[in-house]
Order: sequence, then C-alpha cells, then structure tokens
Amino acid sequence: MTTVCRIEMRELALPLKTPFVTSAGTMDVRRTILLRITDSDGHTGWAECVALEHADYVPETLASAWQTLEADLAGRLLGAGWEHPREVWPLLCDAGQENAMAIAGLEMAAWELAARAQNRSLADMLGAGRTRVPAGIALGVQDDPARAVERVRDCLARGYQRVKIKIMPGRDLEIIRAVRDALGGNAPLSVDANGAYSLSDTAPLEALDDMNLLMMEQPLANAELEAYADLQSRLRTPLCLDESVGSLEDLDRMIALDAARVLNLKPGRVGGFSVSLAMLERCARYGIGVWCGGMLESGVGRAHNVALSARDEFTMPGDLSPSERYWVQDIVSPEWQMNASGEIAVPRDRPGMGCLPEMELIDRVTVRSRVLQ
Ligand code: MG
Repeated sequence: MTTVCRIEMRELALPLKTPFVTSAGTMDVRRTILLRITDSDGHTGWAECVALEHADYVPETLASAWQTLEADLAGRLLGAGWEHPREVWPLLCDAGQENAMAIAGLEMAAWELAARAQNRSLADMLGAGRTRVPAGIALGVQDDPARAVERVRDCLARGYQRVKIKIMPGRDLEIIRAVRDALGGNAPLSVDANGAYSLSDTAPLEALDDMNLLMMEQPLANAELEAYADLQSRLRTPLCLDESVGSLEDLDRMIALDAARVLNLKPGRVGGFSVSLAMLERCARYGIGVWCGGMLESGVGRAHNVALSARDEFTMPGDLSPSERYWVQDIVSPEWQMNASGEIAVPRDRPGMGCLPEMELIDRVTVRSRVLQ
C-alpha cells in the first residue's frame, strides 16, 4: 500500500532559448508547475503540470491549476492509500475536466513514484516496450517563406522524422507552398492552427488539402465535433484533434462521427496516464493515428512523454524535441538527446523517469513554492 504524505509544488520560470509563436501569441519564458510527491516509505515521484499561463489554448491556466492542486487535489491524495497508480485517477477525477492538467500532474507523479519504488523504468510501468522513439518537431508560426524553408530543411537535416508548422490566416498557404516547392512533395510535413480558422471560411484549408500534408491539426475555432466531421468529409488530408479531445468520451465521439482520423495525445492535458492508456486502446481498436504532443515541457514533462511514447499503439513521431531545442540548460540530468536518425532513447535501464532533477538549477528558477503534508 502506498500512502503519499508530502506534496511539494513549485512554479518555475524557465527562459526559452528562442520565443515560440502560435496563433494565440508569443512565449519567451515558460512558466510551469513542478510536482514532487513523497510516500511514507520515503520514495519520491516527479511530474510536471503542463498548464500554460494564458487561457488561449484551453481554459485551464497555470493559476487555476495551482489553486486546484493546493486547495483541492493535494488533500485528496494525502492520506489516501493505493496499491497501483491506476487507482489514483478515480481519487481525483471528479475535480472535473476543467482541471485535467492539475489532475494529470499528480496522477503522473504517482506513476513515477510507483516505478521508482519498484525499481522499474516508468516506460516498463506503463507497459511500453520500445527502446527508441521517433521524434518530430513543432515550429512556431512563420512569417517569411524563405526563412521557413531554411528552418524546415535544417530540422530534416538534424534527423527529425516529421515537421509541424503552426499556421494562422495569412501565414499559411504561401509558407507551406514555399516549403513544398523547395523540399519536394514527400517531406513529412503537417500543420497546426490551434483553432485559428473560421468555419465560414475554410478556403485556405481546402487549398492546403492539395499539399500532401500528413495531417491538419485543430484547424477550426470554437467548433463542435460535428463541424469537424463536415470538414473531414470534404478533405482528403486527415484531420488531427488536440484541444477538442479532452476526455475518453470526446475521443469516442470523434471516432463515431469520423470528425478526425488522428489524435494528438498529451497525457498532461487529458488527465494523466490512466486516461491516456484508455485512449491508446481506442485508437488501436479503431485504426486512429496517434502521436504524443508536447506542451513546451521541461525535461521532467518530456520524460513522461518519452516513456508513454514507447507504447506500441503510437503510429507517428511525437513532438519530442531534445532539451537543447528549448533550453540553455534543462532541469534534468542527463538532458534529453536525439540521435542523427531523429530518435530518442527510452531510458529503460534506470528507475522511474530515467533522469534526475537538477536541484541547484531548479532552486534558481523557482518563483514560488508550497509544501503540503
Ligand atoms: Mg496542437
């Protein structure tokens, strides 16, 4: 029986190497919540709550997640005993879908603690057998076609197995066409609009349909799944949903409606590993393409994504860039590295997430902290 007796929360301010631009705005410092839980035997578990500062991506924010963790979820976990970490999600889930990132933070910390306590890797704990996982990269919104071509060319030369470009109205066709013309029809490209297009003007999306993209991710603003089903029926390019699939019920509806044919699965956004494992089972059963997305996580969040990505159900490279892509120095050791074939090694021979937090650095970037016990 595992009983958590201490929960440490820290808000970190991590300066990004280069600003990241999406249709919602620009980020140059990643504020994030790091969690460390400790059980009564002294085992620890680490995880990251991936909520962002602003509510542009989903309504849950870093501020709301912090509040929920501190005032509600921590109390549910402290003192509650469990035999297996899959029992943790039911303890937390009625905090609601609007708090899924906060729930995921504690739930994933519980899996990491269980892996360390059993001296197993987190990947092993998750039933994930791969030794290496393929990496893709997400590039922010581009405003210069020639520069975009250079950036994509550079990513492919580094070995990335898929390049996703963020788009928004006015920064779409010209950019993607330039990349296609320069790099050929088969370069593994996709686009992500973060909901920037209106259902009343899908002409840019229909034009992008001729560009042999692997997928178009989350193109529509405030759209119901029925609207996505209508759009998918008019496009050859598979649609991919990210923000619109927050729960297993959403995924079941997406599949039933044929609203999209690919899922961008982010364990830190959907409530953690238990929900993610159920989603992966559905994707495999219904032939839905699936890959692991990123939330500009530090090395701790990345560790969890790498471990899950070692599951066989994943069909496409995840957004699993190495540490050096985002950070001057990552908060874990060893840092995450990618080989020349665009693969990240899964640390199966080390307990838990396979890397150790760099406490000196973490102390320097901590802007507030709280211990609950
Ligand atoms: Mg996305």
